[in-house]
Amino acid sequence: MKLLICADFEGITGVVSWDHVTFGKEGYQRFRKLMTADINAAVAGALQAGVDDIVVSDGHDTKTNILIEEIDPHARLNSGSPSPYMMVQGIEENVDLAFFIGHHPRVGTKDALLPHTLSARVVADIWLNDRPVGEIGLYAAVCGHFGVPVVLLSGELAACREAEEWIAGIETVAVKKASGYQAAECLPPAVTHPMIREAAERAVEKYKAGKAPAPLVIPPPVRIRVQFARPSMAEDACTLPGAVRLSGNEVEVSCSDIVKAYHALRTMVGLAG
Ligand SMILES: [Zn+2]
Repeated sequence: MKLLICADFEGITGVVSWDHVTFGKEGYQRFRKLMTADINAAVAGALQAGVDDIVVSDGHDTKTNILIEEIDPHARLNSGSPSPYMMVQGIEENVDLAFFIGHHPRVGTKDALLPHTLSARVVADIWLNDRPVGEIGLYAAVCGHFGVPVVLLSGELAACREAEEWIAGIETVAVKKASGYQAAECLPPAVTHPMIREAAERAVEKYKAGKAPAPLVIPPPVRIRVQFARPSMAEDACTLPGAVRLSGNEVEVSCSDIVKAYHALRTMVGLAG
């Protein structure tokens, strides 16, 4: 049984500010240890439930946050960028199930800690076939393309709610509750790690019993619409072949599957940024 753990940083235990998750800023070195520890809690739960092959993909910023010297030796680490699938790197390699650890809510979410989608500076909003979507829905859909269900998510409470809206029956662990854009009531690691470990074990047991959530499948055509922060960004983004300018700030692409749509999205955000 092969597990892919897709790790972000903003939803890690104790993280409340951009400085905590930005290389070179105060607190970064401390919080990357906590990121690695949250992942290790998930690895421990998965092992307990019988998973025998675990790959962890670092999905935040440069993708070099997780400490290889501290990661559980039962797991292998995808580190560095760019890579074909970034957050879900390795998803095409016979994965059975996926965990999302340390995830954050989409841009525009009310009562949420550090809500954003791909780039807080560039992206004002994104729709997937007319439904507002954040990174959780996007990456779960890429997993779904490969027949892989996302069975566990940890992060801030609003991220857990968002995951439950996309994936009925997903196990979630809220490690904190937002009280402002960069403020939250946080549970300490001594509390969140047993919570993550136990939820991971439960999620895998449900999968083994055939009671896991279904993979999130988006039927074609897959349309991605991006509202950019500025019109100049939309101008740059719509140089992508096939991209259509819908309004001053909005560009849309239509693709035959979610993987092509995800790659088109990444390219547009890269061009715009
Ligand atoms: Zn991130």
